[in-house]
Amino acid sequence: MATLSNARRVVVKIGSALLVDRDTGALRTTWLASIAEDIARLRARGTDVVLVSSGSIALGRGILGLPMTELPLEQSQAAAAAGQIRLARAWEEALAPHGQITAQVLVTLEDSADRRRYLNSRATLETLIGFGAVPIVNENDTVATDEIRYGDNDRLAAQVAATVGADVLVLLSDVDGLYTGNPNDDPSATRFDVVSQITPEIEAMAGDAGSGLSKGGMKTKLLAAKTATASGCAMVICHGADLYPLKRLEEGCAATWFTPQLDPHAARKRWISAMKPQGEVIVDEGAAVALRAGKSLLPAGLRGVEGDFGRGDPISIRCTTGETLGQGLSRYTAPEARAIAGHKSQDIEEILGYPGRAVLIHRDDMAV
Ligand code: GLU
Repeated sequence: MATLSNARRVVVKIGSALLVDRDTGALRTTWLASIAEDIARLRARGTDVVLVSSGSIALGRGILGLPMTELPLEQSQAAAAAGQIRLARAWEEALAPHGQITAQVLVTLEDSADRRRYLNSRATLETLIGFGAVPIVNENDTVATDEIRYGDNDRLAAQVAATVGADVLVLLSDVDGLYTGNPNDDPSATRFDVVSQITPEIEAMAGDAGSGLSKGGMKTKLLAAKTATASGCAMVICHGADLYPLKRLEEGCAATWFTPQLDPHAARKRWISAMKPQGEVIVDEGAAVALRAGKSLLPAGLRGVEGDFGRGDPISIRCTTGETLGQGLSRYTAPEARAIAGHKSQDIEEILGYPGRAVLIHRDDMAV
């Protein structure tokens, strides 16, 4: 399993409570300088680093003079707007002395749900990493409404780790790992060193309370662990408030490691089934049998095409009986699919006027 010392690509999630002093609302600049040194050390040995940094709302509260209590949506969005600019500047000022280029990437939940936007954000992150930059990612809290928000950066960080194909995700937190109970009220609670599978028993152990400034509790961290490990990425939760938190982690400080589920194929299927379908195809009985046996979907088996999808978009697959079989990524647009529906693959060129793919949805792009 990848560790921080041998990782090729690392995503580090930094919680608000680490960056912003709870009492004064000020940036913890000494700590920031120490983690910047840690990051520069990883970069110097060739490790790609992506940061997912919280703190915009916490910083913005101080700037706008807002209380530490739960804020109405428009006030937290205003706080995020005022705080994000300071947050980005703080990272730039901390990393520039080490010769590191920083780049701000603000994303919303829709960017990972919509395939084209997902591919686009992946390409942007990949390009930035290619330039040797350290992307600083946060949720675009200013435009994201409650229904379309991640809301917590634990899950956002896991999605980013899956998107960029990181091998380690570090959640720097105000706890040093996952415990069998809440260590604050249960002195017999013990910490897991390694979690190789997130069982219902383990989920039941996670309380959901976060600290005053952070959104995520242990529940969101377990959700993050599921996303990260399902994409083949190891995840670690450790205490981040002390100086040089990444160096401490490399030196073996207390932490909980979640081992990756090493099945990229299954990971891809899970990813496909989590996407919002942009249309639907209805298939005949023969095609349904073939799909259930793990075959690709051919145009010949199509009985109907609904919606307006593009190439690469997720679409759901339904039988003539109305039963949903699964979903997959279409290799044709909706108008093309309508034109070739019910026809043999060898007739596609004649119908469309150009050679196309033999299958509408390839079995590698399908979750049934
Ligand atoms: N995106 C939020 C912010 O930057 C933080 C969410 C979280 O604490 O996880 O303030």
